[in-house]
Amino acid sequence: MTATQPGTALDSASVAAFARAQEVIPGGVNSPVRAFRSVGGTPRFIARAKGPYLYDVDGNELVDLICSWGPMLLGHAHPEVLDAVMSAAQHGTSYGAPTEAEVDLAAAIIDRTPVEMVRLVSSGTEATMSVLRLARGITGRDKIVKFAGCYHGHVDSLLVSAGSGVATLAIPGSPGVTEATTADTIVCEYNDRAAVREAFATYGDQIACLITEAAAGNMGVVPPGVEDGAGFNTFLAEICREHGALFISDEVMTGFRVTASGQFGLDGVVPDLMTFGKVMGGGFPAAAFGGRAELMHSLAPVGGVYQAGTLSGNPVASAAGATTLRLATPEVYAHVDRAAALLQREVADALGKVGVPHVIQTVGNMFSVFFVGEDVEAVPDYATASTQVTARYAAFFHSMLDAGVYLPPSAYESWFLSSAHDDRALDRVVSALPAAAAAAA
Ligand code: PLP
Repeated sequence: MTATQPGTALDSASVAAFARAQEVIPGGVNSPVRAFRSVGGTPRFIARAKGPYLYDVDGNELVDLICSWGPMLLGHAHPEVLDAVMSAAQHGTSYGAPTEAEVDLAAAIIDRTPVEMVRLVSSGTEATMSVLRLARGITGRDKIVKFAGCYHGHVDSLLVSAGSGVATLAIPGSPGVTEATTADTIVCEYNDRAAVREAFATYGDQIACLITEAAAGNMGVVPPGVEDGAGFNTFLAEICREHGALFISDEVMTGFRVTASGQFGLDGVVPDLMTFGKVMGGGFPAAAFGGRAELMHSLAPVGGVYQAGTLSGNPVASAAGATTLRLATPEVYAHVDRAAALLQREVADALGKVGVPHVIQTVGNMFSVFFVGEDVEAVPDYATASTQVTARYAAFFHSMLDAGVYLPPSAYESWFLSSAHDDRALDRVVSALPAAAAAAA
């Protein structure tokens, strides 16, 4: 394995921009993973993007395999999305009053998913925070269940680590998150049905809801497992129903990405409540939560559960989101699925040739390459994902970056593709793989 490279020449414009950024923004970034801390080196500062490419401030063209962490299903600066955005912006950018654009976006979400009503918000974090309040308000119960390794944004009560034990009460996952805030959060290992049964056996009548990523993407891609023909999400929906708790499927990452109707399009499990974000905002800050009308009517101004937002349903974001969903045709998904399958085959081939142990896991067109130990054949949960040899990923990442391929700067993430990833872009990735595999060996 080669040592982690700085990746960027010391006199580069990115290095200068990063130095300037660190003086005015903590760590130089507005979201921690962007700082390259887990792979080392200097983050590339991006000047512009088009189709499958990012262009950094030094003028390097990079094949983008992050796609803004999922949203850019159609690639960057899609002309029809830009037209929709510009024509919306020309009419004013925010009114703080209802618009038809937000109704169009809400209707587009409802058309593609099992929810009957949605409330629009500005980020996935806001969506999950609000949906927990709604679930607690409806049930009159306090406790929530979540899974280790599932990320639902930086909501205090969800920003937790698992304690020891099977189904454990959570401990704060960050300074500033109080023990009181996490006291009602129960953490189970993902795909561990015994732990979930234990949580409900112990706290059943106090549990307001269980929230899960529809398919896990934030510990790397970990699909919901199937046991005796029944998928994990089916099991979760049933155990929630048995105990009068609400089942919340977080489709912020998978929604409108892994299929036109997200993970629901793959397993058909109907949750009580859902959260959405990323693709539905078309690259703008927009997210949503939704569910059955009877549940959603508990929200103010109809019901008593308060939730609000100055920029919620913003007309420019709504135009970008509705246009993106309209353009996300079956051909788009077929293209992205094919591209994802091709890259998985090529990565496996390159790593196999130099004998680097790895596991590749996929959900629809999202996938992750786990650099695990020799004896690991599958990654069903966070405990296993955490056994990765992250130095191998760092070496692989920097070799790819040097060759003009921009991977997630962390071993615990999904790779994302778009319908703009054409043969030129994919060939560039494929031709970079042998050297990257050798670097990781
Ligand atoms: N839920 C999931 C599954 C996510 O992947 C994320 C972000 O990556 C969020 C919620 C939080 O969304 P946001 O970053 O828009 O707050």
